[in-house]
Amino acid sequence: MSGLEVHDVVVRYAAGRRGSTTAVDGVTLHVERGEVVALLGPSGCGKSSLLRAVAGLEPLAGGLVAFDGRSVDGLPVHRRGFGLMFQDGQLFPHRDVAGNVAYGLAGSERGPERTARVDALLELVGLAGYGPRPVTTLSGGERQRVALARALAPQPRLLLLDEPLSALDRALRERLAVDLRAALVATGTTAVLVTHDQDEAFAVADRVAVMDRGRLLQVGTPADLWQRP
Ligand code: ADP
Ligand code: ADP
Repeated sequence: MSGLEVHDVVVRYAAGRRGSTTAVDGVTLHVERGEVVALLGPSGCGKSSLLRAVAGLEPLAGGLVAFDGRSVDGLPVHRRGFGLMFQDGQLFPHRDVAGNVAYGLAGSERGPERTARVDALLELVGLAGYGPRPVTTLSGGERQRVALARALAPQPRLLLLDEPLSALDRALRERLAVDLRAALVATGTTAVLVTHDQDEAFAVADRVAVMDRGRLLQVGTPADLWQRP
């Protein structure tokens, strides 16, 4: 099977006196190559735990995760070929915008080729000409655009985004959701996005996977889900 395969995945946390928490309780989901899927649900429903398990940041208590038909379960985070982007873009404060984006590029690309790739990525995220700017002078929305360009730079076979727009105000979030989708589609990036915001999920994703209390309730296109009561 091509793309991401999540099969019957369970994630548990050992918690003190009250025993363990089952954050993800047997989730099965297929994300086709080039597809963008949003995990949508209320805070605490297990979205982030599922994403972290796919990334390799949490161990599986059950099930398996595979990409293009091969299990990634034995592989550490950096060997999976997945990209990660979080709520607070976590830029390098001492590098300028171009330096942050270039960090994601393979070391083999040097000189003019490297500069051209950085420029193309900045244009893709709507920041043409921002290369020399210190990241400390950027707005929150601009910082997330830089974080996106950096995450896309190595052309990850899967991009995992955990609430990438949640720190922004609503108007900005709506605009960035549209631009985020455009950037993912333009690069053909397979992506899983975690959000608690239905509008954001519908704006960004080809399909939306609705979670509740560790389980997947339904999966469908925004049009499918919109029509249900
Ligand atoms: P969401 O991303 O949907 O907000 P999470 O995956 O963060 O949900 O959390 C799912 C459940 O697992 C919640 O009950 C949360 O408190 C718990 N949880 C998350 N991370 C940890 C952790 N590191 N240790 C213990 N419990 C955790
Ligand atoms: P998210 O919903 O994105 O996981 P949270 O604010 O719930 O954001 O969690 C922030 C951090 O705290 C995460 O690393 C998460 O794993 C951890 N965490 C969440 N819930 C718990 C918990 N009950 N016990 C310990 N750590 C937790």
